[in-house]
Amino acid sequence: MKKLIVGNWKMNGSLQTNADLVSDVVQGLPASLNCGVGVAVPAVYVAQVQALVQGSGVAVAAQDVSQHEKGAYTGETSASMLQDLGVRYTLVGHSERRQYHGETDAVVAAKAQAALAKGVTPIVCVGETLAEREAGQTEQVVKRQLAAVIHQVGHCISELVVAYEPVWAIGTGKTASPEQAQAVHAVLRAQLAAATEHAGRVPLLYGGSMNAANAVPLLSQADIDGGLVGGASLKAADFLQIIAAAN
Ligand code: PEP
Repeated sequence: MKKLIVGNWKMNGSLQTNADLVSDVVQGLPASLNCGVGVAVPAVYVAQVQALVQGSGVAVAAQDVSQHEKGAYTGETSASMLQDLGVRYTLVGHSERRQYHGETDAVVAAKAQAALAKGVTPIVCVGETLAEREAGQTEQVVKRQLAAVIHQVGHCISELVVAYEPVWAIGTGKTASPEQAQAVHAVLRAQLAAATEHAGRVPLLYGGSMNAANAVPLLSQADIDGGLVGGASLKAADFLQIIAAAN
């Protein structure tokens, strides 16, 4: 499978800085792009960034989607709206959504289902907190989070992207070692394989302080098919080095 690198800008950017960043990334892409590249941008900038990446092979992703179809949900963005703009991916269940917006496994699963129903590929984020890892609950937590989505989406499982993002590694500069990450990815792959014969098609991304220095060993692991990159995706040179490592 081709590797997939997705930047998560989180709540950063402006018309000017987006234009500068995307222009630097697009100009610095490998001449022959052999991996998937995407950027998950704030909803308000989706259309701007789509225009900026046109023809470059870089896909645009949303950072969240509503589980509801339409109606009285002030501030939300529906999957139909993402589909309307031709958005390729959306993150669902990022740990910051789970932590600060109270998103439960059931809500995350409903969001994944809503996205799939409109042809938008959900990038389902799972991961344990430091306390959960120290209590030996990593496997149990990520399996519970993924099981909710598998149960909800039925035969569409093979259309998911899954990102393993240990919460203790996000934005902290602490990365899971390649072996730690691979061990969890193997668990997730086995869980998918028990649910679909097409588990090998589901890209399993690692996220959590991925950077230019650690991308190669992480991306060399058997079940790590790409990266979800936060902080380093805001610096074109760093993001490009991660893309080069995946290419
Ligand atoms: C993320 O936001 O998904 C992420 C992995 O962030 P960072 O790379 O900054 O840890």
